[in-house]
Amino acid sequence: MKNEKYILEPSRTFSEFLLMPNLTTRSCITSNVVLKTPLVKYEKGEKPAYELSIPFSSAMMQSVSGEVMAVELGKLGGIAFIYCSQTIESQAKMVADIKKKRGNEKFPIGAGVNTHDYAERIPALVDAGADVLCIDSSDGFSEWQSDVIAFVRKNYGDKIKVGAGNVVCARGFEFLANAGADFVKVGIGGGSICITREQKGIGRGQASAMMDVAQERDEYFKTKGVYVPICSDGGLVHDNNIIVALAMGADFVMMGRYFAAFDESPSKKITKDGREYKEYWGEGSARASNWKRYGDDPTKNKLLFVEGVDSLIPYNGRLKDGLDVTLAKIRSTMCNLGSLDIPTLYKTARLTIVSPASIIEGGAHDVVVK
Ligand code: IMP
Repeated sequence: MKNEKYILEPSRTFSEFLLMPNLTTRSCITSNVVLKTPLVKYEKGEKPAYELSIPFSSAMMQSVSGEVMAVELGKLGGIAFIYCSQTIESQAKMVADIKKKRGNEKFPIGAGVNTHDYAERIPALVDAGADVLCIDSSDGFSEWQSDVIAFVRKNYGDKIKVGAGNVVCARGFEFLANAGADFVKVGIGGGSICITREQKGIGRGQASAMMDVAQERDEYFKTKGVYVPICSDGGLVHDNNIIVALAMGADFVMMGRYFAAFDESPSKKITKDGREYKEYWGEGSARASNWKRYGDDPTKNKLLFVEGVDSLIPYNGRLKDGLDVTLAKIRSTMCNLGSLDIPTLYKTARLTIVSPASIIEGGAHDVVVK
């Protein structure tokens, strides 16, 4: 049997890889690139109930996914998951408000749920009009998550979709896929505001996690005939990281910092030393956990340790403008790789590990940048 106790290869992250071009055929022009991708699982030969027209979702975080982000990202072909670190009433109201506005019935409405109050929260969200739920946790390889999925199936059959996670290995994926998850999120400890690895010592380099889980997803499809999409969540800093994630098999990505930087996020814009920033804080930070109320017992209010920080990030203007740039880069790279859609990108991409010296070589060097 394979020794699974020790993995002696270092775990890798996206910025350690470069893509090598494949033959660019004459049909490879950016206007021909299609970024459509499945959001939820489907059986061989069938179509998924929901697809995204761009492979982007915004993180279920207070500083990222509120009503405005949900509407604007939905219109642009992605999906936001309304954060669950708020009372059931206020989250359900957000979902209902989005649903009510005209024109919003064209895209699915996403909402985060947790493994504690789901028996009350899920019915409220479904009544309000949520279509796709996602369990919000840094560690999804747990029976609490299979309980939530079972609750959804028992009460709503296949009508309401539920994603689960996060996992970083094949075993975690298989557990959640067998439990009936509609998609599985991958990534522990890579988030920009995340200190989970430092605090608890769990996690894995995001590229290694993706490669492992993507292989298992393919194997699962081959043997069970069910395609369970995977989402690369956390740590995507540069646009080229997103392209590598897709090339390694992510069906879509989830980002916090990226989306928090736009006008459409709920966080405050501030000016400091003449520069514009947006506030961005982790869901595991003391700031985010302030919404919790544990009755009158003050000892239960105490957070013994945090898994996230409160930060400032450079402001990045309007969502559509920023997304246009990112999508243009993805389309352009896909043309370099001779692929006009995401499945072909994954199937044909060839990647090489870079050395620290070649990373220096890859930036502007030995010149004085004006
Ligand atoms: P980013 O895109 O690198 O900013 O990462 C966002 C992701 O970090 C989210 O989708 C979550 O998976 C994760 N995350 C959010 N808040 C926290 C936290 O406080 N601690 C650890 N991980 C977090």
